Amino acid sequence: MKWKNQLTGMKPYQPGKSTDEVKEMFGLDTIVKLASNENPFGFSSKVSEFLENQTINHATYPDGYASGLRKELAKSVGVEENQLLFGNGSDEIIMMISRALLQPGVNTVMATPTFPQYRHNAVIDGAEVREVLLTNGAHDLQEMARQIDENTAVVWLCSPNNPTGMLIGQDALEEFIQKVSKEVLVVLDEAYFEYITDASYKNAIDLIKEYDNVIVLRTFSKAYGLAGFRVGYAVAQQELIAQLDPVREPFNNTVTSQGAALVALQDSSFIDDCRLQNESGKKQFEDYATSHNLHMYPSQGNFVLLEVKADSDLVFDGLMKKGFIIRSGNALGTPGYIRVTIGTTQQNEEFLQKLTEVLTDAEVLA
Ligand SMILES: *Cc1c(COP(=O)(O)O)cnc(C)c1O
Repeated sequence: MKWKNQLTGMKPYQPGKSTDEVKEMFGLDTIVKLASNENPFGFSSKVSEFLENQTINHATYPDGYASGLRKELAKSVGVEENQLLFGNGSDEIIMMISRALLQPGVNTVMATPTFPQYRHNAVIDGAEVREVLLTNGAHDLQEMARQIDENTAVVWLCSPNNPTGMLIGQDALEEFIQKVSKEVLVVLDEAYFEYITDASYKNAIDLIKEYDNVIVLRTFSKAYGLAGFRVGYAVAQQELIAQLDPVREPFNNTVTSQGAALVALQDSSFIDDCRLQNESGKKQFEDYATSHNLHMYPSQGNFVLLEVKADSDLVFDGLMKKGFIIRSGNALGTPGYIRVTIGTTQQNEEFLQKLTEVLTDAEVLA
């Protein structure tokens, strides 16, 4: 058959082991998964109420324009309704952007390590991928700007960056966008927007008003705790959204997902509370890193990238046997580190205790 050449040797996304699998493998009663940056507090109780009381007719197609959710989200973000594009998770929006702009003969610029879906989609669409190493966990925007040429179609920025958690500084970001040709789409992936507490952060939606080549991606998967519902969205100027919209599948969010996201949006106190809890959880990790002399990147997300001074896979295995699933840095391009989702106070405490045991066994800690 006539498969695209670039599919040769490509592997599907490797999901981590499920909690049930791990329970069975190691005979454990409970497993805590701190691997996918899901919200340890779940979602708003208002969403639970909605899910219990809904009487949705699933025999009919959803509203392909997501009108109800769109109306409320436009208000909450502070843009017009036609400046929003919904995806089946922001993953799907990444795919739409790739499908609309990337092809053989063009290139795309991104950091490395960063969120792997930018690269994955670009490869499928046959574009040349130009990856620029992070410097101390942060985007090297000067080098990224240097990599842009007349064949560059898309630049991907991830802020806070997954897996380092680092925010792109406001001045550097604006300087970069100013410098980049208006012919290049600048994608700013803010999957962890709701968790940002850095006082210097300015809402990226203001950039959209000024620049017609910038698109911001956000999601209901992380702080809103709705990863299973698959609702992400993009914000940009109306003309840009109108260009991308034909690429979208007509019914890409289910009726229930639209409803759940709409209800979640109305409970801002849940988000405020999760942000606070996340800050205090982060402090637990920071204190641990400091007292054990382990490097940790300053994170503005709900996860940390922590040095382990040992083979990350070994630490990963050791923690799994003790009931915690995290991500090994070896799988993320950050060997010697692990990425851990910040959990509840108790989860973090138990996790750090187990980490100490594993690192003591590995003779990293005395
Ligand atoms: C989790 C994540 C996404 C994907 O989120 P979905 O909306 O669930 O598809 C996108 N970008 C980054 C950086 C993420 O960490």
